[in-house]
Amino acid sequence: MQPVRVRFAPSPTGPFHIGGARSALFNWLFARRYGGVFILRIEDTDLERSSRESEENILAALRWLGLDWDEGVEVGGPNGPYRQTERLELYQRYAEQLLSQKDAYRCYCTEEELAAEREALLAEGALSGYSGRCRNLSPEDCARLEAEGRKPAIRFRVPDNQGTIVVRDLVRGEVSFDCSDIGDFIILKSDGIPTYNFAVVVDDHCMSVSHVIRAEEHLPNTPRQILLYNALGWETPQFAHVSLILGKDRSKMSKRHGATAIEQYQEKGYLPEAMVNFLALLGWSAGGEEEIFSLEELTRQFSLERVSKSPAVFDLDKLNWLNGHYIRQSPIEYITDLSIPFLEKAGYLKTPLTPERYEWLKEVIALVRKYLVCLDDLKDHVGIYFNEEVEVLEEEAREALTAPHVPALFEALARLVLDCPALSAEAAKGLLKAAGKEAGVKGKQIFIPVRAALTGSIEGPDLDRIMAILGKERVARRLAAALDRGL
Ligand code: GLU
Repeated sequence: MQPVRVRFAPSPTGPFHIGGARSALFNWLFARRYGGVFILRIEDTDLERSSRESEENILAALRWLGLDWDEGVEVGGPNGPYRQTERLELYQRYAEQLLSQKDAYRCYCTEEELAAEREALLAEGALSGYSGRCRNLSPEDCARLEAEGRKPAIRFRVPDNQGTIVVRDLVRGEVSFDCSDIGDFIILKSDGIPTYNFAVVVDDHCMSVSHVIRAEEHLPNTPRQILLYNALGWETPQFAHVSLILGKDRSKMSKRHGATAIEQYQEKGYLPEAMVNFLALLGWSAGGEEEIFSLEELTRQFSLERVSKSPAVFDLDKLNWLNGHYIRQSPIEYITDLSIPFLEKAGYLKTPLTPERYEWLKEVIALVRKYLVCLDDLKDHVGIYFNEEVEVLEEEAREALTAPHVPALFEALARLVLDCPALSAEAAKGLLKAAGKEAGVKGKQIFIPVRAALTGSIEGPDLDRIMAILGKERVARRLAAALDRGL
């Protein structure tokens, strides 16, 4: 196999979508799997819609996902620059080559003329390719038109009788395109900006790209690109077009099916590990039942042979399940660190944290993480650990506090807690038992009212761990407050 060189070539024209991230991941995995090079090229030729902000979002999202690039914007490399607007001379040079070979010609038609022509062709029921009006202009014609102040675009001359072009696609097999209706297409606009099909061919060739792995929506562009490779005398790379992503209702994935931008998932507290795992399964499978894959594992197993031809279905429940899995299984320090910004945003924490506070926070996160789908959910689960007071709103909890044995139980427990040297979870366990003994009750009769007083609910994580996290004073205060309210 030739050295693997792949590229991810986003257009920085808006939010970075799931589909783009999946293309990036598949390219990255392919490069890593085969010891190749992963290139990041920015296709910013749509001057109106491209922005540096969008480019920076893409770069940040790739870094967040853990996808580093070997050549490209910011890191540089031997085939730079890696932003298309910085490569205009190169496109000019190859457009000139095509002109001199007569595989391209200058076209002086204005937007208005082209629009009128399209309309006329449509009215005749013809397909709306370019009519070829400027195909055979003489140098004198050109000079005359230029004297009128017209600036030419450069059009590719599609070979006559082109017939069928077969794309040999590593995912989709052989796909034939009837090229008889491909009209001559613009490769360089009158302002010197290349069109997508031309820029992509020049860049993929000049960057020695071996495999073009991209979304299926670009498959119909591929025959035009192949025509350009042929005219320039260049070898085509191998193509692999990855299927569309559909929503669960089988229509094209859109905002209706959930957030489409990677950033939105990051903001909600999805973990990059879950996102990578989820993206990988959008079109690829290992073949077995296994669904949990780290980036390392994916790197070992990824292959284009196992990328499916059928559309991938975006299943938010699966992403949620994966995210819950990584929240529960990752090292507690990692989840704690990721949680801090979410707790700050919710107003629970101020950084920097003292080492003691950090240790305390770890206990909180360890206790609640099993309830989380994403880290943004933390705010709904941690109030009782951060707030001074707890409000008992749940009906069943209020009722539990009215049992006749509650005053004796709470008084005993508050006293024992305040007297104990250090309220660990282990110690709390013993104190709950001892307080129950004093009040003549056990089991649920102890746990339910104490839990209700400390958390406002009759369900939740381990009571002894909650007590250790709250600390002696808050436990005693909440028991007393519950009694006060009850009296
Ligand atoms: N700039 C194109 C896009 O964002 C990439 C096309 C390609 O990979 O060839 O869709």
